[in-house]
Parts: sequence; structure tokens; C-alpha cells
Amino acid sequence: MIAHVFRSHSRMRHVALALAALLGTPLGAQTSDSALTRPTPNCASCADWMVPQRPFRIFGNAWWVGTHNLGAILLTSDAGHVLIDAGLPEMAPVVAANVRALGFRLEDVRLILNSHAHYDHAGGVEALRRASGARVAASPASARWMERGGVAGDDPQAGIAASYPPVPNVRVLRDGETLRVGTTTVTAHFTPGHTPGGTTWTWRSCEGARCLDLVYADSQTPISADGFLFTRNTTYPTIVQDFAHSAAALDALPCDILLTPHPGASALWERVAARDSGKADALVDREACRRYAATARKALAMRLEKEKQ
Ligand SMILES: [Zn+2]
Repeated sequence: MIAHVFRSHSRMRHVALALAALLGTPLGAQTSDSALTRPTPNCASCADWMVPQRPFRIFGNAWWVGTHNLGAILLTSDAGHVLIDAGLPEMAPVVAANVRALGFRLEDVRLILNSHAHYDHAGGVEALRRASGARVAASPASARWMERGGVAGDDPQAGIAASYPPVPNVRVLRDGETLRVGTTTVTAHFTPGHTPGGTTWTWRSCEGARCLDLVYADSQTPISADGFLFTRNTTYPTIVQDFAHSAAALDALPCDILLTPHPGASALWERVAARDSGKADALVDREACRRYAATARKALAMRLEKEKQ
């Protein structure tokens, strides 16, 4: 564990230097950005989440710019780009480098969106907002916590989820709202439960005449701090109904390619490997969203059963 933390520290230093170079400011001058250069505290999964991944085209104008174990999706157009999720605070320079490695300009990112307001998906938003000049938009509950730089109160992981650099002026969205950047159109579907503000994003990407429905479905796992009860909850009393609403919403989405903030939750790498070995349509699975919803229902049922014991 100590070795693990030490390794993370030296990696963080490297990442911090990369970010300083990216922002064109010397590290010592970044007093107000010091949170960006610090590793996320008490994070057993962070080393795993930071495993590098070569960025690649998912389909059409949709690109993977995250790490191997945390999602960040770039949707490009000739008149600006959309970024969905930014990973950990220390992942921001990695996402920026991935965008550039694909030949795109970070300054052309006009809009940053988020799956949910936990540090492993929203942590890098502020650094990337500053570096790109993009605006940030989120559901009401996500906007509230992103502006504070961490969750508390109604969040199932209040008290255990790490804080992150706060994001100012997050535009608040309505469920079902569609946002446009250039020729890219992306729609917000509120899928709460894992957090009260959880949001799934959908869009259509095309390659020539062929267009597919892509879904970046938010986490649906019933994870919480110790002592948080799903069955008798006072801080988030609608949590069980919210999970049910989200599973139904996911069931109903047109869904050719499913992507998730934690790529393992949708077997992304197995599908990418199959595509790389010649199965051209291996990413496409029209049942994937319904299967994802079914898995979520099962996990919640198990959690509720456990609370009865
Ligand atoms: Zn989370």
C-alpha cells in the first residue's frame, strides 16, 4: 500500500508538470490550482483508474479520450467539440493529451458534460474547463455538487467520496434537454440512483451514410457509505424509485453502442479487441442497454435483500 501510494505520488508529480505545461504556467505559480496537482487521497483504485489508454475512434465523431479504466468521450464537429466526463482531478492532463494526440485542439472543446458528480468522473472538469474555455452543463443535483467540488447530504457516498476542484457557473439542464455544438447534438437523460444527479447521454454518430445511436450510460451501482440504508433513507428518500426510473429509462433508449464511465461495466475492452481482430461491428449490441439495466435491477435487489437481514 505504501509503495502504491509512493508510486502514485511520483506519477502525480509527472501529471502535475504536464498540466502546468499544458496551461502554460509554472507549477509554483499555481497556488489557486494546487488541488489539481495533488493525488486523490485514500484512493485504492486510483492507480488502476490512471492506467494509460491510447485514444481511439469509437464510431464516427465519437472518440475515447479517457484512461483504460475511466471514461472520457470526445464528440467532434467542424464547429467545436463536446467532452463527456473528465475522470479524476489528476486525469485532466491525460485527457487533454489524448484530445491533442487525435489531432484536435483542446481550445475547440465548447461544452463539458458529466455522468455524475463523483471525483472519479467530475474531478478533472475544472482543469479542462479552464484549459479549453468550455462551458459546463449538468443536471440540477450534479451542478449543485460540482460547484462545491464534492458530494455531501443526499449522496449515497457522502462522507467517503473524495473532494475535487469546484466548477463555477455550471449551467443547469432539464431532463430530456438537447444540447448542440456545431453539428453534434447530445441529449441528457436523468438516470439517478447511484447519485441523485446521475445523467446518461445519447447522440447519433455517422460514418458515411450509416448512423448509429450511442449511449454513455451513467453508473447504476448501489454503492454507499456505511450506515446508508436504501430501504429507510432520510437523506435520499427516493433512491429506490430513482433506480427503478433509471432502469426503465435505459430499457427504452435506442442503443446501438453502449459506453459507460467505468468501461468494464459494459465489456468495452472485450468488444474493442474483437473489433481489432476483424469483427467490424463488435462494438454494436442493440441489447446492451437493456442488459445493463437488468444487471442494475439485480444489484439493487441484492442490496435491498441484504438490508432486510
Ligand atoms: Zn460514482
